[in-house]
Amino acid sequence: MRTKQFKSESKKLMDMMINSIYTHKEIFLRELISNASDALDKLYFRSLTDNSVGIAPNDFEIRLEIDKDARTLKVIDNGCGMTEEELDKNLGTIAKSGSFDFKQENEKKDNVDIIGQFGVGFYSAFMVSDKVTVESKAFGSEEAFRWSSKGTEGYVVEPCDKENVGTTITLQIKENTEDENYDEYLDQYRISALIKKYSDYIRHPIRMEFTTKEPVETDDKDKAPEYRDVTELRTLNSMIPIWKKAKNEIKPEDYNNFYKDKFYDYEDPVRVIHTKTEGQATYSALLFIPKHPPFDYYTKEFEKGLQLYSKGVLIMDKCADLLPDYFSFVKGLVDSEDLSLNISRETLQHDGQLKLIAKTVEKKIKSELEKMLKDEREAYEEFFKAFGIQLKFGIYNDYGMHKDTLKDLLLFRSSNEKKYVTLKEYTERMKEGQDTIYYACGETDEKIEMLPQTDAVKDKGYEILYLTENVDEFALKMLGEYDGKKFMNICDDNLNLDSEEEKKALEEENTAAKDMFDKMKESIGDSINAVRFTNKLKKHPVCLTSEGGISLEMEKVLNSMPGAEQNKVQAKLVLEINADHPIAEKLKTLYNEDKEMLGKYAKLLYGEACLIGGKSVPDPAEHSALVCELMTK
Ligand code: ADP
Repeated sequence: MRTKQFKSESKKLMDMMINSIYTHKEIFLRELISNASDALDKLYFRSLTDNSVGIAPNDFEIRLEIDKDARTLKVIDNGCGMTEEELDKNLGTIAKSGSFDFKQENEKKDNVDIIGQFGVGFYSAFMVSDKVTVESKAFGSEEAFRWSSKGTEGYVVEPCDKENVGTTITLQIKENTEDENYDEYLDQYRISALIKKYSDYIRHPIRMEFTTKEPVETDDKDKAPEYRDVTELRTLNSMIPIWKKAKNEIKPEDYNNFYKDKFYDYEDPVRVIHTKTEGQATYSALLFIPKHPPFDYYTKEFEKGLQLYSKGVLIMDKCADLLPDYFSFVKGLVDSEDLSLNISRETLQHDGQLKLIAKTVEKKIKSELEKMLKDEREAYEEFFKAFGIQLKFGIYNDYGMHKDTLKDLLLFRSSNEKKYVTLKEYTERMKEGQDTIYYACGETDEKIEMLPQTDAVKDKGYEILYLTENVDEFALKMLGEYDGKKFMNICDDNLNLDSEEEKKALEEENTAAKDMFDKMKESIGDSINAVRFTNKLKKHPVCLTSEGGISLEMEKVLNSMPGAEQNKVQAKLVLEINADHPIAEKLKTLYNEDKEMLGKYAKLLYGEACLIGGKSVPDPAEHSALVCELMTK
């Protein structure tokens, strides 16, 4: 029989398992049980519509067998089984989509981490075994095959005899070493405790023959008591899914373990929502808000959705219709009595009951987040750092349909202590007479603080929201207003901080200098819409503002989107010049004495304004030549 090699990644993982010093080796049992349970589910589904399966619903089971003398532990299921190809494919390569990619990225990290972070599945058996044998007969097949491996050297697949459909996994348990006691995996009490700990909720019975000693009754009172072995078949798991148990029977770590096991996370969730709803829709839901996004969250591979059960039986692994996109980070499940078992994906979409459930699930998530925001601000802020961007997209998407649901869940850092603030908090502490919510955009808080306009707005005592993410301004534009207060970018040319008199004086000055501004605009060219004096700058000589709806930030974001090449948007920019800065006088003098120089100054000032506003200078070579010309003058 030819020995096949593992695919290289599998080999690495295998190697890691064999030499593992991982302290929770016991999880191998959970992994094998979980695979067996999946296999049972598959055949069970089939049995609903296919009489040829020939197994009654209650006869699907997992058996454990211990043979202390032979040092073997067997995990036996009468599930769907595997064909020769499947044995080769499933056990010769790492099937699990994400785990290995992630591992490679983090290769430098300790091996131990990886095991903890992901259910590494079948391979974990090698943490406790010298040899693993998998005998399997697939449903619908006449032949059975045996896969066996002693580790990294490779594996063998060969025909074998097996009467029933299903899979038997035999672990040749390692000998004890100085630091490790492997005998415990041959101990019926220990195995039974592990099942309780990790696999209690598995909905198929996990059974094992239990041998206990029973005193032999005798009439002879003087004889030492004698015992005989009594063997009985016990079901080790309660089979009650955790979400069906009474809440007061569930410990926080039960929820956490369940979450980590089912949803492949290495950290506890920040929130657990466990509800039972009766009435129009009758269902239980067990939802988790993760602490951090899964590694593929912001990729297109990510699939949102909740597991959907009908009376405790899984009918769909990722039911997307149960979660709106803006809450796509939520993991968990819904179990409803109202859904039929063999409902298809297509009919589900139109199922009124499901829609009703989705609606209440959404409400539950929202109110949980609100509660967290109110009672556990720090935790909420951490949550927001991880998933806030998703909420902001939620405001922006679907033409703003969900903005009212989400607006009070938003946080922004602001010029007040640079801490997070909600829109409600912002408006509540607005200065008297302030009717606008100010915000500024930039790559970082620091860059925003360097914007020339920032000082002027802060000086008036107005708080500024700091927008550092691409989606931010689009979300605010979509909101339009909050509590009757409009949003305004401090780089908008309409930023109106002046008193009536100041406004009037400025207007006069601008009218008087109109011809000068026209000349300046002419030499700068089309990139600018107008040039004018402003009062809104304190120490800076110039700034760029934009007229109309599109800000400089939005221009950047929109033009960086795929397909934007053909259809570039352009913010309507205004070059504003600080009327109180000496440069204003200088320009007036040049206008009267040296128009050519005025043109050069105009270009230079525009370049400066671009730099300060985070926009690239249109012609850096020309800009630098002009600077040098001035320097050497
Ligand atoms: P995962 O279960 O996460 O996919 P595993 O390495 O644990 O990864 O298992 C690989 C694959 O082998 C499973 O997806 C399944 O198709 C198959 N498999 C494992 N155990 C069994 C079993 N007892 N019965 C049928 N198929 C199994």
